[in-house]
Amino acid sequence: MGATPSLESAARGAKSSAALEFLRNSPKKLLINGKWVAAKSGKTFETLNPANEEVLALVAEGDKADVDEAVKIARKAYEEGPWASARPHDRTKVLLKIADLIDKHAEELAELETLDNGKPLFESKNIDIPGAAETFRYYAGFATKIYGETNPSDPSMFNYTLREPVGVCGQIIPWNFPLLMAAWKIAPALACGNVVILKPAEQTPLTALRLGELILETDLPQGVVQIITGFGPGAGSSIAEHPDIDKVAFTGSTEVGKLILKASTGNLKRVSLELGGKSPNIIFPDADMQQAVFGSSIGIFMNQGQVCCAGSRVFVQEKVYDQFTDSMSQFAKSITLGNPLDASTRMGPLVSKEQHDRVKGYLKAGKEEGAKAKIGGEPGKQERGYFIEPTVFTGVNNQMKIAREEIFGPVASAIPFKDENDAVFQGNDTTYGLAAAVWTKDISRAHTIARKLKAGTVWINTYGQIDPMSPFGGYKQSGFGRELGKYAIDLYTQIKSVYLKL
Ligand code: ADP
Repeated sequence: MGATPSLESAARGAKSSAALEFLRNSPKKLLINGKWVAAKSGKTFETLNPANEEVLALVAEGDKADVDEAVKIARKAYEEGPWASARPHDRTKVLLKIADLIDKHAEELAELETLDNGKPLFESKNIDIPGAAETFRYYAGFATKIYGETNPSDPSMFNYTLREPVGVCGQIIPWNFPLLMAAWKIAPALACGNVVILKPAEQTPLTALRLGELILETDLPQGVVQIITGFGPGAGSSIAEHPDIDKVAFTGSTEVGKLILKASTGNLKRVSLELGGKSPNIIFPDADMQQAVFGSSIGIFMNQGQVCCAGSRVFVQEKVYDQFTDSMSQFAKSITLGNPLDASTRMGPLVSKEQHDRVKGYLKAGKEEGAKAKIGGEPGKQERGYFIEPTVFTGVNNQMKIAREEIFGPVASAIPFKDENDAVFQGNDTTYGLAAAVWTKDISRAHTIARKLKAGTVWINTYGQIDPMSPFGGYKQSGFGRELGKYAIDLYTQIKSVYLKL
């Protein structure tokens, strides 16, 4: 249990002694059956601070053997343990306790998130960590509100439905909102009485592991939550393929989503997929321009643009195209790019070298295709870390690579449009359908366009609002199934129809 040699340097700037203590206790282990265990192979991998490229901690590299063990434990906990048949009120208590513990450790969790992911502390503190607590609290309320129905059957029969848990749920999450995504997955699953095996992304395993420690402080029975860290091929693919996992919930790239779906056919496990996006953000000349510039900038630059519903295609009506892109570039220029632990920083590094290379590739492709970087277009000037300048590309058309492929970086592609029909046509001309936005003061036009856009979420005169009470998910290749709201209950229950002869 020696300290990682470079920890003091890797985590410099962190103020939370609890976060440092957590990191010092390295290598981190897998959570199986309520205990922390090393990977059976003994292997570990490094998790880095993307702001300085130094090692924060070593983490157990779980693979098929560990997933098999976790599934065995989870199956036993589901079939024989008290959770699936627990009083709903008792489930509520556990979920509320998890929410309270997240709040209690908010500062520490926010620093761990920022260290591991690179997002500004400003965002971890104000979005990720409170959002995770809120999600647990929201689903705590749901445990007592999962109803069946009494059906108008033949008078000689009494027919009703039961909503039962699905069983053992594999949950594979991405690195962009590590703790928040863990909450979106675990909270509704537990509210419905399932047991889970969570696989955090290899780039950002830390807050999920800390959440695992907090969960152990509650009355959740052993074996209800397993956390297996490791890589996609290995830990992730073993979950997707496992014949004794009943459901897999995945958030990540469309490419991997397709692999998960294929792998699920072995035992026809239930699948829900929340995948990529290339969301249109449409600006009409009658919009409040100041608000539209601010909202559109947050919509693409928040979390360094590493957001599946980022407003990456900014459609601007021809007449205001130059004015709007000027203002958005001015806004981008004002963003403080730098050490994400500084309170004043509004943009940190991308999560990894791989992501940095990918985004640099798109910056190059954009220029080669003839787009102009009105602002940005280059990596950050920092000596270390995976920084990219906030970028606004003008002169983009909707067929260019930077308008068609998900960049997952702080890169806005501004595309002109003529009229309402053109905006809707171009907006929908994408293989994705996760989110969209429209900015206009004409309420009739706003609602008409909201209906016409093929996207799971539409924002009007705002961008990026997400709340646990409202569903989130995709049309087209952005996936299927809706998380959040009452809809997540559908993902984590199955319905049984019971007939009784009177
Ligand atoms: P990104 O490309 O943004 O890193 P991915 O879709 O690759 O997103 O990753 C999201 C999650 O899916 C991560 O937890 C990752 O480990 C996991 N993953 C990647 N490849 C696979 C795979 N073949 N099977 C299962 N999970 C995978």
